[in-house]
Amino acid sequence: MTDSDAPPDASDPDADEAVDADPDADEAVDADATGERAASDVLDTARALLATGPLCDHCLGRPFAERSFGLGNHERGRGLRVAVALADDTDYEGGADGDCWVCEGVFERLDEFAERAADAVADYEYATYQVGTRVPPLAEENDRLLREDAGMDPDAGEPLRKELNREVGKRVGHVTDTEVDFERPHVQFLLDVDADRVEATVNSAHVYGRYRKLERDIPQTEWPCSDCRGSGRQGREQCDTCGGSGYLYDESVEQLTAPVVEDVMEGVDSTFHGAGREDVDALMLGTGRPFVIEVDEPRRREIDADRLEGDINAFADGNVEVEGLRRCTHDMVERVKELDATKRYRAQVEFGGDVTAGELVDAVDDLDGETIEQYTPNRVDHRRAAKTRTRVAHEVTGELEDARHATVEVHGAGGLYIKELISGDEGRTEPSLAGLLGVDATVTALDVLAVEGAEEPFERPGFFLDGEDGHPDTDADGE
Ligand SMILES: [Zn+2]
Ligand SMILES: [Zn+2]
Repeated sequence: MTDSDAPPDASDPDADEAVDADPDADEAVDADATGERAASDVLDTARALLATGPLCDHCLGRPFAERSFGLGNHERGRGLRVAVALADDTDYEGGADGDCWVCEGVFERLDEFAERAADAVADYEYATYQVGTRVPPLAEENDRLLREDAGMDPDAGEPLRKELNREVGKRVGHVTDTEVDFERPHVQFLLDVDADRVEATVNSAHVYGRYRKLERDIPQTEWPCSDCRGSGRQGREQCDTCGGSGYLYDESVEQLTAPVVEDVMEGVDSTFHGAGREDVDALMLGTGRPFVIEVDEPRRREIDADRLEGDINAFADGNVEVEGLRRCTHDMVERVKELDATKRYRAQVEFGGDVTAGELVDAVDDLDGETIEQYTPNRVDHRRAAKTRTRVAHEVTGELEDARHATVEVHGAGGLYIKELISGDEGRTEPSLAGLLGVDATVTALDVLAVEGAEEPFERPGFFLDGEDGHPDTDADGE
């Protein structure tokens, strides 16, 4: 596998034509003589092209690619060769094939290139592909010279590279029984003619799901130790902070899930993309948090979602659970990272003074539906610029356990700081539960119950791939 730094220029192998030119554009204006003159012009030009040296049918036909929709360039070339032989009553000689001075026989090798492309990814499961080519600069120069020598516009017809992309691409599709995809194919081939190399890049595959985190002190992704910068060492000594592991926490949601997907898909690496993240010490309960696991260079793309779910849940051993696994498109990565989400939280709250049930009900009623102003809390990353922002607390309910303890549930807009909504953060959050009650209030445990799209659900059908959805009810369990 090699990555191609220059994106290949790909063409649709199913389109036989360069179609953007107006077929009437180069016709003479004199209507009477138009047809005859055009015909003799074409033949004259074909004679001039043939006079430049040995040409294959592809290279003879390509300067006329704007004419006669529905033909391949090699058919145009062969047709012109026949027409010239008939008009001039000369012996018909076939194309020069491998001796063509323009392409130096590249079009003789189309099947070979396609076979080599297929061989390069023989061990990989894929359904879509794209072909790009790097044509030798000399051949591109020859392609222009050919036209100039015959008195044509040097850009007439179609560039060599475009035809080569299309003809190789068409054959790859036939050999591998897969389809072309210009957006994000499973594999991308780059044919480097000069280097005589066919490179293949296998694009990543994606699995969407929702996770619950059932134990505290598990970060979402790997958390390298800041004291040793992940090395596990301080000078010659083992790092005391992390015990030499290089990580502040032994496991993460990512480490408990992604390796299983990577293993099943036989990839080389994986990345966990979460729809936001909860605090390390918060549980993620309820309907869970959407995520996408991206697997690099997968040999397998088809997955048994039920089985994968079982495998992950066994591997995570009660610390983390996943559900609703489905294969999804690459676009889902951006969606889970960018979609505006609301969150439902459950906070265990401790009061600094006695509170009655009636006082709690009045206070949460005041917060319910309220717009909250929050100056950036002290605990938040100091690299972030401090400012006052407003977020809506869509729904707030509370239940008193005793005079000093309550459970408060909040359904808030994305970005609402819950601990500060309860404590008031020394006046930086307004209004707050503590402020309304007139006693100190502290969150002792905070869990997330649901992460939902604010305007629309995360799970839109268009983001999922067909045929592997073992969970027809996934849309329904946001209830
Ligand atoms: Zn040629
Ligand atoms: Zn360390």
